[in-house]
Amino acid sequence: MPQGYIVKALSGYYYVLPEEADLREAKTVTCRGRGVFKNRNITPLVGDRVMYAETENGEGTVTEILPRTSELIRPPIANVNVVVLVFSVTEPVLNLQLLDKFLVHIENTGIDVLLCFTKSDLLTEDDDSSVPKEMTVAELERITKLYEGIGYTVVKTSSKLQEGVEAILHHLDGAVSVFAGQSGVGKSSLLNAMISGLNLETNAISQRLGRGKHTTRHVELLPLTNGGLVADTPGFSQLDFMEVEAEGLSGCFKEFAAIAEGCRFRGCLHLHEPDCKVRDAVAEGVIAASRFDHYLLFLTEIKDRKRRY
Ligand code: GDP
Ligand code: ZN
Repeated sequence: MPQGYIVKALSGYYYVLPEEADLREAKTVTCRGRGVFKNRNITPLVGDRVMYAETENGEGTVTEILPRTSELIRPPIANVNVVVLVFSVTEPVLNLQLLDKFLVHIENTGIDVLLCFTKSDLLTEDDDSSVPKEMTVAELERITKLYEGIGYTVVKTSSKLQEGVEAILHHLDGAVSVFAGQSGVGKSSLLNAMISGLNLETNAISQRLGRGKHTTRHVELLPLTNGGLVADTPGFSQLDFMEVEAEGLSGCFKEFAAIAEGCRFRGCLHLHEPDCKVRDAVAEGVIAASRFDHYLLFLTEIKDRKRRY
């Protein structure tokens, strides 16, 4: 029985892209779902890998949903294996606390992250910080080194200059990916630059006013020229910490994990416990102070939230 990806779901129909060697060449098959899914209390999602039976009219019936490797709620997509986390170097100003918050959230899902700094054309050369909003080349270099040192892949792009677009496509080869990041950072512009023929509205203001295209549009997975599928809808732009527990937070800071194994206490929160190797690593500069500060801040947030509910 043929197998494929659901790339679009609309009015009871599932559009299945056959899992052929070259996804760009494949044509979607319009499928109905079987009632059996309702009985099993599982609804097919975009991104699901399914088996389907072909019917005479060139359409099909989804017969089975294969096990999911991941399941995002917003946007609702199954089997995403890379989140492209997008931050602009400026406009809006690069906020590392928010960046770390996004990273925690994504690490908590277990999905890989590709870190993307957009609007590189707005970088300034010298260190004159008379305009505090601006980001210099040197400062971005420092930030890039920090996150690469932790183990993240970092790509710098400019949709305006068509820079870094090939690099993103290269990294998403063979992946099912979704974009995430604050509104206005350039997610839609980047998707437009990556996919010929795509013409997403690029206007941060209209999104903020809530006349959202994203609220009414249905998410669709689009094939990329290098291979891979990407969601045409910028993903989550706001985050909270409902799902992350205090004990799990440290594990969402990738560079803490191995070091924390040396802490005297299992489940050490790296606060005031004796023989805490994470705090030692911060003191030695092995762990960046900004990362540890954000860890402490998020820990407080989680505890405060717990207290309120
Ligand atoms: P989104 O809300 O993350 O999807 O961001 P958009 O793609 O809608 O872009 C928000 C604003 O940033 C728009 O005014 C874009 O023209 C602008 N923008 C996007 N990419 C770039 C870029 O590479 N360079 C510059 N200078 N501006 C950009
Ligand atoms: Zn510790």
